[in-house]
Formats: sequence, structure tokens, C-alpha cells
Amino acid sequence: MTQAKKHNKTKYLFVTGGVLSSLGKGIASSSIAFLLKQRGYSVSILKLDPYINIDPGTMSPTQHGEVYVTDDGAETDLDLGHYERFIDESLSQKNNLTAGRVYYDVIKKERKGQYLGKTVQVVPHITNEIKNRMKSLDGEKDFVLIEIGGTVGDIESLPFLEAQRQMNYELGQGNYLNIHLTYVPYIASAKELKTKPTQHSVRQLMQYGIKPDVLLCRSEHTLLKDIRDKIALFCNVDEDAVFEARDVDTIYEVPLFFARKRLTETILDKLGIKAKEINLDTWTKFVKRIKNPKYTVKIALVGKYTKYEDSYKSIAEAFIHAGSINNTKVELDMINSEDILDAKTAKQTLSEYDGVLIAPGFGSRGIEGKLHSIKYIRENKIPFFGICLGMQCAVIEFARNVCGLKQANSSEFEKNDQNVIDLMADQVDVEDKGGTMRLGAYPCVLEEGTNAFAAYGTAEISERHRHRYEVSNQFREKLQSKGMKLAGLSPDGNLVEIVEIEDHPWFVGVQFHPELKSRAVTGHPLFIDFVKAVLKNKKQNEAE
Ligand code: GLN
Repeated sequence: MTQAKKHNKTKYLFVTGGVLSSLGKGIASSSIAFLLKQRGYSVSILKLDPYINIDPGTMSPTQHGEVYVTDDGAETDLDLGHYERFIDESLSQKNNLTAGRVYYDVIKKERKGQYLGKTVQVVPHITNEIKNRMKSLDGEKDFVLIEIGGTVGDIESLPFLEAQRQMNYELGQGNYLNIHLTYVPYIASAKELKTKPTQHSVRQLMQYGIKPDVLLCRSEHTLLKDIRDKIALFCNVDEDAVFEARDVDTIYEVPLFFARKRLTETILDKLGIKAKEINLDTWTKFVKRIKNPKYTVKIALVGKYTKYEDSYKSIAEAFIHAGSINNTKVELDMINSEDILDAKTAKQTLSEYDGVLIAPGFGSRGIEGKLHSIKYIRENKIPFFGICLGMQCAVIEFARNVCGLKQANSSEFEKNDQNVIDLMADQVDVEDKGGTMRLGAYPCVLEEGTNAFAAYGTAEISERHRHRYEVSNQFREKLQSKGMKLAGLSPDGNLVEIVEIEDHPWFVGVQFHPELKSRAVTGHPLFIDFVKAVLKNKKQNEAE
């Protein structure tokens, strides 16, 4: 039997990774999606994660990096953040799937007797479930880009790769491409770039019945034609389809690098599509601003997941965007709040910074350090940005040190009669930890005359949430009477979404996660305005 030759409207791009992890598959995929979009094609994305968690929501950020939340409240892999930032589109639940979710859905069907007495197996039942998700995106857009997490050769990702093989077979030539990201190391003692790991990785992929059409070869050095030709010969890939994916200064330069190498022309050519024009002017200017900033500011990010950079991925990216708009390089230092023990260490640690961000988080570890930090920032009029737990800490600090509520706390840490931060009513009976928080986009109405209103330039906004606790309405009046402003509320007025304080240049705490909506080129209003305030603070200090 020959392969189906029917021509699909939607073309499938499968992206796999070989040799080792952390080569930047997510960035490579986002860059390809971005370049196709810039040419006027529409692209949808499916990120497949091989772990057994139903979603990353229950994983510590130090294990798997930040949990990214979509508008529809899906807790997803942080790669979805890269996609959104690059392609400037909001994704949803249907763009991320874990092995755990697949098994969970299959087992639920089995319990309902939907397999009609059959033995339920990895092939075909698990693979069919995966294929159904891949097919569910068919017809919506010009391209579906499917990124398979993990490294080829891992036991875990096998069902996904088998689903890819079957999809290749069903779609037929001309309707899909297999893109494989590998690594070409430079061995200094031999003064040579080594292609063997790539050869082995492709051989492994071929054992699964998958033939790569395009190779992206990550390397620290230029891959000259002879190396690329050698890879092509040994890996059975066209010479013009072996691409260098060299290290660049910023991830936002990756699409420009690929564009120079004419990657999308090759992809389109192989699929028999005539390439539409591309315009990269705006993106090029954005990258130029990142690489040649006029000013520099130092911002401290005080949190407790500081050992692993990816824990605050979206915050770090939001600062790159906001920095570029302000022509400023933001030097972001991760400060472990557990190292801040009292007023003295707060001053010692934070006095060298032009602005401070208090990070989101869960649990009581490191809270006192955050409170000492906020007191110092508030009293010394240093620009302050508090996100989620950071905002809750700002309310606790204000209640304790300005309102005189000495026992003020969040009931997440200590239940007492001064819980200025308390569990939301609809969370009281919730026992499960996975997927049960206030998740996703909610509207918020801004108070005129506040920093938030000035930043957004509009009264109605929508932002993404991920938390269980809120400012308690019982203490609103007390907080307000001492100068805390409720700058943003839910439209029914019931939930406090933003707090600010009077007589401070920029002190904004938000219950939501603005970092999740910061996009490349355009940035996020609050981050942009915060960096502006930080820059102003620095200039003032220098002038004094
Ligand atoms: N732990 C806090 C809550 O659940 C804050 C969560 C966060 O910072 N995302 O409300």
C-alpha cells in the first residue's frame, strides 16, 4: 500500500530534539512559528510533554521551571510562554498535552467500558489518543507545529514518537516535515566540530521509523559547508536542509539568524508552497535595542526559587521587553529572600538596586525576608513591584508596620484574627492541589489617578491569575485609611486586584501575573512603567 497522497490544507511540522536536553527546542519552534507568521501564514502549536503529571501545575518551579498559565486557565509548560511571546497570540488548554493527561483520559475511558472488552495498550490506544489531539488542530490554520518534549532515545517520549511516525504515514509526503534539533560539539583538543552525536541521534530516530527532513544543528561555532555536507551524507538529509543553529546573544535573535539562513524558504519549498514575502524590520529594531541599550538599571528579584533561572522565566523575559522599550538594559539579580534576615540585611542587600520586584510563590519559607525587604523599599521610596505573593506580602507589611496590626498575616502561613490575606470563599472546601486555584484571565477595573491607570492608559484590563488567597475585605477600610490605595478591583468590586501606596514614586502590587502577558516588541504596560520609574530613580540618585 502506498502512502496517502491527498493534499491537506494544514501542514504538520514535527520538532524533535536529540543528543541532549536544553538545546532550545522551544525557542527554535517558536522562531519557526514566528517566521511563518511573519510571512502571512497562520500557525497553531501543540507542545507534548512526556512526564506523568497531568499538567505542570503541581510541580515545583525548581524542577521544571515556571508554570505558565493561559487565558482559559490551563497550567502549562513554560514553552507556551515562548510561543506566545514570539507569535503574539494567546494559546489555550488545547496547545499543551502531557503523557499523564493522555493516560488519564485513556484510563477514564477504560473505566467507562468504552474499549468494549479490548486489552488497552500503548499501541494503539495511547497512540490513538495522542494522534486525536494532533488531528484536532487540523484545518484550523495553515500549519500545526508539534514540539515533542524530551530527547530522542528517552523511554518516556516513545509513544509520542510512535504517534509521529503514524501521523507521517497517514498524512503522506508533502503534508508534513520532520525537523530535528541536534548538537554539534567543538572538541578543543582536537580543534574539531564533531558530527557523531548527530549521526547517532538521527540513527535512533530512524529506528523509530522517523526520517528527519530538516536538521537544526546547535553549535558554538560556524558550521562550514563541508561539515554540513558530511552531516547530510551520514544522516540521509538533503544538503540544503542541514542548518547551523549557532549560539546568539539573545533568544530574540534566533529568528533573525534562521531568516538569514533561509530556513523557512527551505521548509516551504519542501512542502511545495511558494514563499510569501517577509518583513522583519520591527523585530530587527527590537533586537537592536536589546543589544545596544542606552541606559542600565539594576533590579533585584526577591524570591525563593532563585537557584533555577527558569523559575521566573516570564518575569525575566518581561524585563527584556520593557527594557528594550525604555532603551535600557535591566540587570536582574535573583536574591534569595531567606538571606534577608532583618532590617540591616535588607538594607545591605537592597541598597545597591534601583528597583525591587517581590516574586510570586507558595508557602511560608522566605516570607519574613520579603517583609523586611518591602519595609525597606517602602520607607526609602525605591520603586516596588509586587506580583501575586509579592503583592500579598506588601499588604501584610503595610498592615503590620503602618496600620499597627502586629499579627497581620496570610492564613496560608498562620491562621489568626488578623488575616489581611485570606482564603477565597470558593477555595475553603477544595482539597485537591492540581488545577484548583483561581486560574486564568479575569477582568479588573482601574481607579483613575493611580500608577496602574497611568501605565495601562485604560480603565478596564484583563490579566491572568494563579492563586488561592486574596486581600480580605474585612481590612479594606483600615488599609485605605492609612494610605493604601485599592487601585484595581474586580468589576463587582469584591476582589482587590491591585494595591498602591500614597506618597511613594512607584509602589504597585498586583494579585495577578502581568508577566504572562508581556510580548516581545510590545511588552507589558506595568513592566514598561516600572522600568521607567526605576530609571528615573537611578537618575535622581545619581544627580544627588
Ligand atoms: N501563595 C499565594 C496564593 O496562593 C500566592 C500565589 C502566587 O504567588 N502565584 O494566593
